[in-house]
Amino acid sequence: MAVPPANPTAREHLRENLAPFNQIRNALYQLIRFMQDKKVSVPDDLHRMGRDIARTFSNYWLPPPGDPTQVLREVYLDVTGSKVKVDLTGKNVRVVDKKCRLCKVKYPDIDHAGCELIVAMIAEFFVQARAKDATSINLKLVGVEESRARGNERCVHLYRLES
Ligand SMILES: [Zn+2]
Repeated sequence: MAVPPANPTAREHLRENLAPFNQIRNALYQLIRFMQDKKVSVPDDLHRMGRDIARTFSNYWLPPPGDPTQVLREVYLDVTGSKVKVDLTGKNVRVVDKKCRLCKVKYPDIDHAGCELIVAMIAEFFVQARAKDATSINLKLVGVEESRARGNERCVHLYRLES
């Protein structure tokens, strides 16, 4: 399959389809409640969902080239609509999203961050881009450190750059 360039049409398509996270937030937390009741590993299931979404969308859109900090800012803007702060310390990547679309409020009966789905989706976009020789960035998902859904003031996503 040809490498899909990050052309304006594909970017628009992505934003139209993924940005209205507000609309899926309620459904997502209903799903998390269901997962908690069923005692499944909620982060694992959300990661699987995020990866599946990214695999589908990687047919139309991939992260643009550039250095990890800049690229991650762009990817978050495209994928989630959020303006994030990206800190790179050695190989550790820390993304701070003060207005995470999936974690607007604290849910008293929820123990997990909806944006577990986002971290897996973002990491998988880089897996797909590497498979298509569209990036050299090897971004591994570490997890969600803080989440507004769990009562923190912001969401903090952790990744690790590997060679
Ligand atoms: Zn979040």
